[in-house]
Amino acid sequence: VAASTNAHIAVLPSPGIGHVTPLLELSKLLVTHHHCHVTFLNVTTESSAAQNNLLHSPNLPPNLHVIDLPPVDLSNIVNDQTTVLTRLCLNLRENLPSFNTILDQLSHKSQALIIDMFGTFVFDTIPQNIPVFTFFTASASLLAFSLFLPQLDRDVEGEFIDLPHPVQVPGCKPIQTEDLLDQVRNRKIDEYKWYLYHLSRVPMSAGILLNTWQDMEPVTLKALSEHPFYRKINTPPLYPIGPLIKETEPVTENEPECLAWLDKQPSGSVLFVTFGSGGVLSSEQQSELAWGLELSGVRFLWVVRVPNDANASAAFFKAGSDDANNAALRYLPEGFVERTRDRGLVVKSWAPQVAILRHAATGAFLSHCGWNSTLESVTHGVPLIAWPLYAEQRMNGTMVEEDAGVGVRVRSEGGVVGRGEIERVVSMMMEGEEGKEMKRRARELKESASMVLGEGGASFVTRAAMANACLFAGKNDCSQKPG
Ligand code: UDP
Repeated sequence: VAASTNAHIAVLPSPGIGHVTPLLELSKLLVTHHHCHVTFLNVTTESSAAQNNLLHSPNLPPNLHVIDLPPVDLSNIVNDQTTVLTRLCLNLRENLPSFNTILDQLSHKSQALIIDMFGTFVFDTIPQNIPVFTFFTASASLLAFSLFLPQLDRDVEGEFIDLPHPVQVPGCKPIQTEDLLDQVRNRKIDEYKWYLYHLSRVPMSAGILLNTWQDMEPVTLKALSEHPFYRKINTPPLYPIGPLIKETEPVTENEPECLAWLDKQPSGSVLFVTFGSGGVLSSEQQSELAWGLELSGVRFLWVVRVPNDANASAAFFKAGSDDANNAALRYLPEGFVERTRDRGLVVKSWAPQVAILRHAATGAFLSHCGWNSTLESVTHGVPLIAWPLYAEQRMNGTMVEEDAGVGVRVRSEGGVVGRGEIERVVSMMMEGEEGKEMKRRARELKESASMVLGEGGASFVTRAAMANACLFAGKNDCSQKPG
């Protein structure tokens, strides 16, 4: 099935491990399975050890070349109050001149460019003969909402979160207003403007790559391909090529310790706890979580960070770096580490998530439900305790619980999830019948993921079609449909 395309493709992800990871995985597959040559352009950030480790791993295949764009000085346009998406967009915008220079050098051989949804600046300068594909790194449900957003923006006065009813995205399950992503909860701030700007330009792409598959999001994928609304707005061809998750991880400082500890635990007995690359809890919340884990009596592996009372995504761009340090342990309740020593392991800042999810001892994942984390969990048959923190994670948490049936969402009271609630969901997941059912469902999705990814599976075939489209689109034929 694999096409022998020999296409040369340039890839420009937004900074941040959640974007870089799936685009790098796609690049590896394009090189190893579809005979493409990929130049991967890395927008560097102040400090992301994790992102750098991933991109400078010695194990990248030949024909995948990573180029670090020279760092830009953002000091005059961002400050400590600048929020994540605004910072990301400004960083990318400031990188455009060096990106354009490199693309110029590559243009004699590049047939296509792949960006993610916050890279649509490139539409203003890219030569006509180079088609641009957008890799949507979140769920298809968020894509459907985002394609509908320009219309919502025109039709609704006031804030979307004040609407008296859920948001009815064409053909999709309605979204409860409390689940709406952070970026659209206040239409007056820069985050909203950036989000609307980029997402309203996504339909300018030659195709949209989706990190999902049929069994994960059946209703939304059907809506996107059949509902007249998406045709009316000229949605380009969609390529569901997921789940693309990182396979191997570079060895980090914590890895040998975590995995050796897991080796000693009984099969399916450990709850893994971590909140993505950016997530941090408030000090009160972190303490409640510690008490909840202690009261539940289950085995756990917990990645602990320095809490932050003001910003739930305070670790963004810093994950895996030295400033997420020993201090983290000082915020845990006194004596917690000693009292739980025989059944719990606390690691600082960062852990090899995929290796942990793959390990037989891991029974469930308490996660912020970033899209990559959700896919990594499901792909390994691990059910989730959904603890959304920022961005679109509330939507993902609801999907995990209500649609995919692979998890349970924690409920907070007055903004804090209490130790009693934590003990309840953890015990239910690790020891209850409901937990067994969620695990069974997660295993089903694991099987289905492995089917679509295998040679001849739907995502494999779609990826091959996309690689072909890159080759032919460069010759002015962007109309090749997947499948
Ligand atoms: N991750 C990890 N170790 C950690 C925390 C996160 O390896 O301790 C990785 C995780 O495997 C995933 C990514 O960081 O690939 C987080 O992406 P996601 O989309 O879940 O969330 P985001 O960080 O974008 O909020």
